[in-house]
Amino acid sequence: MPNQHPTSNIQYPSAQALVLFGPPGSGKGTQAKLLMQCLGIPQISTGDMLREHILAGDPLGQEISGVMHTGALVADEKVNALVEERLARPDCAHGFILDGYPRTRQQAEELVRWLGSRGIDELVIHLLVDYNSLITRLTGRRQCPQCGTLYNLFSKPPKVDEVCDLDGTKLVIRADDSAAVIRERLDAYERQTQPLIEFFRQSQRRLLEIDAGSDPPQELVRKICRAIPANARGG
Ligand code: ADP
Repeated sequence: MPNQHPTSNIQYPSAQALVLFGPPGSGKGTQAKLLMQCLGIPQISTGDMLREHILAGDPLGQEISGVMHTGALVADEKVNALVEERLARPDCAHGFILDGYPRTRQQAEELVRWLGSRGIDELVIHLLVDYNSLITRLTGRRQCPQCGTLYNLFSKPPKVDEVCDLDGTKLVIRADDSAAVIRERLDAYERQTQPLIEFFRQSQRRLLEIDAGSDPPQELVRKICRAIPANARGG
């Protein structure tokens, strides 16, 4: 029987929620995009959604930009509201990939409640990467401000130094990839997010732990896809 929530007019027939979980720099965004292509369900990145509000300069963007630029977390109720609104859109009916959410105990409880009331199962995919590799990845990250393509000076350098391969635009460092902000983001992860693994274990959520430190992204996504149980692929 399809899952349907009484107050929502969208149905979630056999929908599967994948939660990509891991520290900044563990590759959640990259893996979420690759999984989206392979599974045909959307990536919901709270970081991207929040950055869009900052770029738009709307009231929410103005409220959160200070916090985000320090590397600390945005308030739970703001993020929960954004996610809830996003998940109610029709493209989520067969499932979705959460990237960067939940990040606090309050967000996790909210998500579990939301999913539970719709009869949707989630699978938490925990990307494991050691601390030194995270620092290397985060400090080497560059992005094309024109087309959004991501590079890394160490693992995926552009052909010409600091210039986008696709459109020749000069690459930029994301505002929160400076050394001090990286430290704060990793601290916030350790204090507020990492402990959620214990919450997932205790509440018997399905949890897949995967070494995300050595394989190139395309190989890693194949591993993840092979490890996702058939009944967790939505549709
Ligand atoms: P990363 O995982 O590399 O830190 P993200 O793009 O996921 O990158 O997040 C960037 C920033 O956006 C975070 O440092 C935080 O300020 C904010 N943010 C993203 N997701 C959340 C969330 N679920 N709760 C609170 N703040 C968030």
